[in-house]
Order: sequence, then structure tokens, then C-alpha cells
Amino acid sequence: MGIYDTIMFKVPIKCKLCGTPIASTQTKKFNPILRTYYVGDILETGIITGVVEEELFCPNYKNHPQPPQDLQNQNAEVPENSLETEYLPIQKIPPQNVYLVVWHKILISIEETYEAAYQKITTFGIGDLFLIYEDLYVKQQTASSKFNRIKHWTSTYLKYLSLSEEDKSRIQNKELALENIQYYDILKYIGLENPFEEYLKDLEKEKPSCCDEFWD
Ligand SMILES: [Zn+2]
Repeated sequence: MGIYDTIMFKVPIKCKLCGTPIASTQTKKFNPILRTYYVGDILETGIITGVVEEELFCPNYKNHPQPPQDLQNQNAEVPENSLETEYLPIQKIPPQNVYLVVWHKILISIEETYEAAYQKITTFGIGDLFLIYEDLYVKQQTASSKFNRIKHWTSTYLKYLSLSEEDKSRIQNKELALENIQYYDILKYIGLENPFEEYLKDLEKEKPSCCDEFWD
């Protein structure tokens, strides 16, 4: 396979043969360095503006419908000197393509047809760029807020671990005097087998109240 980049789709694209949602594709067309790109990212590429065709790979390909048995047999009997291309329509199912739309080196969209990609690139403007920026800004803010909360939770938990057994039991028994109300965030996790893991799960379940419309 070699080195490639991964392009994540904003909305999964359904496989035309089996309906399986496909979340991403791989490409070697942007100076590949094993990066993962999302819509809005600046690509490592010499392409300033254009449409790049890429094939989709369905993770459920093993269950794809096969050509009828008699056609397969017919293929098996192809004489050696015949032109291979004559038989390609029977043997090969045409690949499902996606079209990566690049605008000033920014991945602005992923489309299922060339026509849609062309339409996108000819009509894209600063207003559309602002919408992408706004989306990324909300995601960045959310990630940064999560990071700060994790940092706070972890340092609180470490502080709790350094307490005397007597103080620990006071906190566990919820004798919350003013000075130990700081442990409120970790209370429900004390005594669990993997407190940090449980906290992360709870954090992931939360949706930012400000940004429902942007949240995938
Ligand atoms: Zn499929």
C-alpha cells in the first residue's frame, strides 16, 4: 500500500452496491505523509484549485454481489489471444468514485459526482469559507474546553489520591465542607475500577449546548 493520506467525509457516503456507509478514503495525490484530512484543512499539495478523483473502498466488499456463475465461466474460457478489454464489463464492476474539491489548497468539499464538484468549485466564495471556518472554530473551542476540563479533573483526582485516609473517607461520605467542595467533580468516580476511563465516557456523551447544529 505504501504511504497515503486519509480523507474523512463530513457525511458517510453509501456504497452503491451494498449500502454500507463509507466514512473515508485514502489518497496518494497530496504528497502523502499519513495525514488525516477533514473538510476545511489545508492540504500538503501543489494543487492550488481543482478537483481530484479518488476511488472508494467498501469495507463490506466481500459480500458484494458477484457476476452470475455462467458469465464467470465464460470469462474463464477467454482465449489467450483475445483482447482483455472486451471482457472487462463482465468481470469488473466499475469503481465508485469521489471527487475531492480543492480551493486555494483548502479541502472545501467531497462530492459524489464530478458535476457536483465542478459546480462547487465554480461557485465557492468567501461566504462559504466563513461557514467552514465557523464550523472549525466551534470544534476547536469544544476540544479546547474538553482538554481543560480533563486537565482539571486529573489534577483534582491526583490531589485526592495524596490525601490522608481520614480525609478521603470524609470526601467519600460526602461530608462536603467548604474546603473540599473542590472534589465535587470526581466524587462519582471514586472507587470505580477505571475512574478516568469512566469520566472520559461521560465527557464524550456531553453535547456542547452552544453548538448543536454543528455537532456531528
Ligand atoms: Zn459495499
